[in-house]
Amino acid sequence: MKLYKENQLKIYNSLSKTKEAFKPVHDGHIGMYVCGPTVYSNAHLGNLRTFMFFDVAFRYFLHLGYKVRYVRNITDAGHLENDADEGEDRIAKKARLEEIEPMEVVQRYTVDFHDVLKKYNFLPPSIEPTATGHIVEQIEMIKDIIDKGLGYEVNGSVYFDVIAYNKNNHYGILSGRKIEDAIHNTRVLDGQSDKKNPQDFALWKKADERHIMRWPSPWSDGFPGWHLECSVMSSKYLGDKFDIHGGGLDLKFPHHECEIAQSKTCSGHDPVNYWMHTNMLLLNGQKMAKSTGNYILPDEILTGENKILSKAFSSSVVRFFNMQANYRSILDFSSDALEASEKGYLKLMEAMSSLVSLSPQKSSSVDISQWKKKCYAAMNDDFNTPVLISHLFEGVKFINQIKEGNASITSNDLVDFVTTMNAFVFDVLGLLNDVKDQASGKIDGVVSLLIKLRKEARENKDWDLSDQIRDELLSIGIQLKDGREGTTYSIS
Ligand code: AMP
Ligand code: ZN
Repeated sequence: MKLYKENQLKIYNSLSKTKEAFKPVHDGHIGMYVCGPTVYSNAHLGNLRTFMFFDVAFRYFLHLGYKVRYVRNITDAGHLENDADEGEDRIAKKARLEEIEPMEVVQRYTVDFHDVLKKYNFLPPSIEPTATGHIVEQIEMIKDIIDKGLGYEVNGSVYFDVIAYNKNNHYGILSGRKIEDAIHNTRVLDGQSDKKNPQDFALWKKADERHIMRWPSPWSDGFPGWHLECSVMSSKYLGDKFDIHGGGLDLKFPHHECEIAQSKTCSGHDPVNYWMHTNMLLLNGQKMAKSTGNYILPDEILTGENKILSKAFSSSVVRFFNMQANYRSILDFSSDALEASEKGYLKLMEAMSSLVSLSPQKSSSVDISQWKKKCYAAMNDDFNTPVLISHLFEGVKFINQIKEGNASITSNDLVDFVTTMNAFVFDVLGLLNDVKDQASGKIDGVVSLLIKLRKEARENKDWDLSDQIRDELLSIGIQLKDGREGTTYSIS
């Protein structure tokens, strides 16, 4: 039986502002869309927090046996410098400053993003569509919005009529903004904007001569508004009613509010059943953000090359640090906090390494079935990873007690225990056991030393010693192979 049948997941829905029982549109299937990065610079650790949380949610869905289509887009056009439909395209600006093609900027930072996610052990999404790959569909959606009477053209640009939409719908349903406060353009107050109302937002912008990222359209050579790509790509790959839409809290308004307005205008209904928002990672008490320079890069953590850091940390320590906090709480980053997480992480990994060598007994003095229920209950309660981690440490206590002979476990319970610990630690949280890696590094050092001693013994024609080294290594499963390049080894 699929695990999801016996696990009623509850998700905090930002739309209803309550925890709701999760029921997918299609039984056993989940469609999840997460707004991806704008690839004009390296993703920072704050961006990573958001993507990491959704990686863990994705992993948990897969663990429960759901068939998941996870779409995370790449924003490679249309995201302007500020959220008020003004300023330069972020990618075009970077290209201009660096005197390279916009698509070189896109390529560089997309590759970097993927590299970082690999180092941090992310699962790839099912589909990773780009905004520039869906210009045709975006133009079609604008035409549809114009046909429905909620889009209007002025001087080659097309805007969404928020005031008209709000007559029959609720603009502000997600963010709670009042319509009078939901202003997208400050310049309109000086009469410089083409918009009918300051609340309106761009669907299509006419490109001025300087703007190099441009496409032909019925209205002008221009580019799509930022919010449009997500309405288009989510409905294209997940349908016009899908299960989960996620992103950081800062995307609630205007981005997600506008997405709802666009999608609802086209389909006639709300596009998403569960809206999920992650809270911000802070540095020095402020939101970690590229624009303010208040950020740290994931690669800097791995090398320790940032003056904020006391040393380098592994990617799993960062994962553990993130998962020790609830995704809906703000999280303060500091080197001290990472060091504290590292201690906990190492304790957990040491226990995981000794898990395999526990011996079963005739009876269990630990209640594995009760403990396992608590682990699932934590994740089912809106992905409460800090509570899950506290239960995993109860597991660590069991391991140490069993090891020291102060507790016992039957073979059936041991199988269940090992499977559950491995599932949550490695499959769901996505941690890697660096301690094991460190141990294999040490083995490598020791075997290399023995190979060197054997070489010296052979040079001295001490065949007894050289054979003894080879045979004793073989008896513990390490086979030496002599070749033209020297001696190598394999572990069986
Ligand atoms: P961007 O590349 O700026 O579009 O951001 C990518 C994702 O990172 C979005 O979901 C943002 O909400 C999220 N994000 C940006 N800054 C932070 C932060 N300091 N903490 C957590 N998430 C963030
Ligand atoms: Zn988006």
